[in-house]
Amino acid sequence: NEGLSGEVKPRVLLMGLRRSGKSSIQKVVFHKMSPNETLFLESTNKICREDVSSSSFVSFQIWDFPGQIDFFDPTFDYEMIFRGTGALIFVIDSQDDYVEALSRLHLTVTRAYKVNPDIHFEVFIHKVDGLSDDHKIEKQGDIRRRASDDLADARLERIHLSFYLTSIYDHSIFEAFSKVVQKLIPQLPTLENLLNIFISNSGIEKAFLFDVVSKIYIATDSSPVDMQTYELCCDMIDVVIDISCIYGLAEEDPAVGSPYDKDSMAIIRLNNTTVVYLKEVTKFLAMVCFLREESFERKDLRVVSAGVRYRRLVKIITKQSNRLW
Ligand code: GDP
Repeated sequence: NEGLSGEVKPRVLLMGLRRSGKSSIQKVVFHKMSPNETLFLESTNKICREDVSSSSFVSFQIWDFPGQIDFFDPTFDYEMIFRGTGALIFVIDSQDDYVEALSRLHLTVTRAYKVNPDIHFEVFIHKVDGLSDDHKIEKQGDIRRRASDDLADARLERIHLSFYLTSIYDHSIFEAFSKVVQKLIPQLPTLENLLNIFISNSGIEKAFLFDVVSKIYIATDSSPVDMQTYELCCDMIDVVIDISCIYGLAEEDPAVGSPYDKDSMAIIRLNNTTVVYLKEVTKFLAMVCFLREESFERKDLRVVSAGVRYRRLVKIITKQSNRLW
């Protein structure tokens, strides 16, 4: 899985019945499309759509199931694709009847498992924005039960499926994607450990490592993540990139340079004595930290922006991530 610059990227396959929401997910997560615009996405007849996403560290492919695609078609080398895949996301439209989707899920998972038992199987129970909380849990239970019954009937209980409730109308889709991608990062425990050491030494309350383009967080320290904090990080990344795109590029030729580079950083003070701090780490990644105003103002905590510890951490993360991406 060599990316454009030769780096190894986590490879994700997005599958599901037509109209289940795959293109919308791709556009919203990787191309900053607003959820409402997806209403006007054209339906395509292609089975397979490649997304090179050279600006993100995740490499990504979409597969449709328009009616009968068959795995026996010799022109369709699914074996090669499954072999190179880290995670297979199967999207099920929760607002539609999902009997057909479940049988496709079963077929796909059993095929893929035969070729590559190391694939992570991730089921997105999608478009849950229309459902009440009770209804969501009920749907998830029902889909989970039926999918595992199908596997049990085929004596394939050892295949593990993970389930997520997702919608492009809130942050659940980003959160789910983050979890999927984190599983594909072998250095995750090391990164988490580094972030733990980093925050405990610098008066920071929470630190995230983000893929800037997709707003997927690939690691955080081991304190719990709450949705609000995560949403704030996403908002901050949007603000920084938007402002930088508008005012940060060379006026005479905006094609020169990038809205995100090694000088990218921002500090935002919230009205609750919290400071949010964003800093470039690698060409794909940014660190977003939360700290108290007092900590930020104490001189010794300049480490956050300029200190030795921070630079050392960045160096280590860069080294780690170069091995990966
Ligand atoms: P694909 O054929 O699997 O690529 O499906 P599309 O991405 O074209 O989506 C089909 C329709 O589902 C579009 O009208 C989207 O606006 C809609 N859709 C996608 N995601 C969501 C979601 O999370 N919630 C709701 N309510 N609709 C969605």
